[in-house]
Amino acid sequence: MYISTRGNYSPVTASKAIYLGMVPPGGLFVPEKVPKLSLDEIKAMEDLPYPALAEKILGYYLDDYTPEEIRESTQAAYGQNFFHEDIAPLTLLEDMGGILELWHGPTAAFKDMALQLTPRLLSQAIKKSDDNQELLILVATSGDTGKAALEGFKDVPGIHIACFFPDKGVSKVQELQMRTTDGKNTYVIAVEGNFDDCQNGVKDIFGDAAFNEELAKKGWQLSSANSINWGRLCPQIVYYFYAYLSLTQAGCLEMGQPVHFVVPTGNFGNILSAWYAKEMGLPIGKLICASNENKVLTDFFATGHYDRRRTFYKTSSPSMDILISSNLERFLFEMNGHNAEAIAGYMRDLQEKGSFTIEEGLLQKMQELVWAGSANEKEAAAEIRRVYEKYHYLMDTHTAVGSVVYGRYTEETKDETLAVMDATASPFKFSKSVMAALGDEEAPEDVDELLILDALAAYTGNPAHPALAGLDKRPVLHSKCVTQKEMKSVVEAIVQGTFSPSSSSK
Ligand SMILES: *Cc1c(COP(=O)(O)O)cnc(C)c1O
Repeated sequence: MYISTRGNYSPVTASKAIYLGMVPPGGLFVPEKVPKLSLDEIKAMEDLPYPALAEKILGYYLDDYTPEEIRESTQAAYGQNFFHEDIAPLTLLEDMGGILELWHGPTAAFKDMALQLTPRLLSQAIKKSDDNQELLILVATSGDTGKAALEGFKDVPGIHIACFFPDKGVSKVQELQMRTTDGKNTYVIAVEGNFDDCQNGVKDIFGDAAFNEELAKKGWQLSSANSINWGRLCPQIVYYFYAYLSLTQAGCLEMGQPVHFVVPTGNFGNILSAWYAKEMGLPIGKLICASNENKVLTDFFATGHYDRRRTFYKTSSPSMDILISSNLERFLFEMNGHNAEAIAGYMRDLQEKGSFTIEEGLLQKMQELVWAGSANEKEAAAEIRRVYEKYHYLMDTHTAVGSVVYGRYTEETKDETLAVMDATASPFKFSKSVMAALGDEEAPEDVDELLILDALAAYTGNPAHPALAGLDKRPVLHSKCVTQKEMKSVVEAIVQGTFSPSSSSK
C-alpha cells in the first residue's frame, strides 16, 4: 500500500496513488515498504532487455496491476517510439566513467523514460477505479514536461491532455515541439504571461471545488502529470538497474561492487528513483546531487537548512531552474523513519516562512548517502567544450552540470569508485547554448535556434535527434492563445467538445 508523507490519508493501492497523483489534502504517496532483492535475484535479471526488466521491477511495486497489464504497458512504452534499441544506452568514457543516455525517447529529454509509461498505468488505473470518468490532464509547463506529457498521453483512450505554456516564454524548439503535436486528444494553449501565470491558472482550476463538481456531473475528472505522481517516479527506478547490469555484463564490474550515480537535479525526482533502487539492494555507492546556480539543494545538504527565499536565476539548464524541490519531501520521510509529523512540520515552515531546518542526526544520515554540489554557467559551458575536445562526446547543458560536480567530487575525495552520469537531454535540444559553449562564446540572443541545430549537426558530425530534425517543416496544429482568465473556459470548451485549436483574433 501507499501512504502519505504527512500522515493525513488512509493507505491506498498503487493504482489509486497513481490515479490521485498526490495526496488530496497535501503530501505525497510513498510505498509503505520497499521491496528487497538479493544479489542473486539482481544477477538473474542481467540478460533482460529493457521492457522485460521494467516489467520485473514495476511488478514489485504495482501489486494491484495484473502481470499482463504491466507487460502490455512496458512493451508498448519501450519500443519503436525510442530511437535507440537499448532504450537507455550506456557509453564508457576513459577515466570518467559511464554516461547513461536517457534522452533517446520521442521528445529528447529524460522525462520520456517515465512519461511513455505513466499514461498507460493511469488509464489502467481508471479502469480499476470503475467510476467511468473521462480524465483531463492539465499541465503548466516551461518546456520539457509539456512535450513529454503530450507525447505520452496522445491517443491514450479515456484521457485528454491540455498543456498551457507561457506565450514567448519557451524556446523556439520547445514551442514548435508542442505546437506540432498530433493526436486526437491533445490541446496546446499559449497563455499571455509567464510560467507562474500558467501555473497559477492551473492551480485555480484544480482548487475550484464547484467547477470540479460541475465537471464530475458531466463525467470528467481532472488530474496532473508531474513528478509528484508515483507513476512517474517508479518507472525511473528501472534504468538504474539497467545501467548497473550493463556494466556487469560488459565485465566492467563484479556483481556486488558499488557504483556511484551522478544526477543533474531539479525536482529531486530522478535522484530519488536512484535511492529507491539502492534501497531495493542494487549496489549503489554515493548519490551525487548536481545543481546549477539555483543551488538550494547543495546548501541544504551542507547545512540542513532549506531556504527558498533567494534569487531565482534563469540558466542555460532551465529544467533545473527550481527553488521548491518537491520530491525532497519523500526523501526526508524515508530517511527519518516515516515520521509524518516531522514532515508536516517542515512543509508548514516552508509554506509559511519559506524555509525549514532538520536535526543534525538526520542531516548526517543523509550526508552519508548524498554528496551535493553545484556548477555555475561558465563552468558548465567549459565542461561541454572540454569533454567534446577530449573525448569527442557531446553533452547537453544539464548533463554538463552533473559532469562539473562529479569532477569536483573526485578532486575532493580522491574516490576512484566507478561512477555513472545521467545524461538527461540531447545536446540538440539546447543547441544554442551547446554551440556557444563549443565556440567559447556567449549564447546569441536572437538567432533562429533551428538553424543552429543544423549548424551543430554539421560542426560535430553528430546527427540531430530525430525528434528535433525537420521540426520547422511540420504543420502547426495548435495556435490558440488565451489570457490567464480565459483558461477555465478553455477547459469547459474541451469538455463540451467545442474547443477550437486556433485563435481567430491572433
Ligand atoms: C526535468 C529535468 C531534470 C531534473 O530532473 P528532476 O527529476 O526534476 O530532478 C534534469 N535535466 C533535464 C533535461 C530535465 O528535463
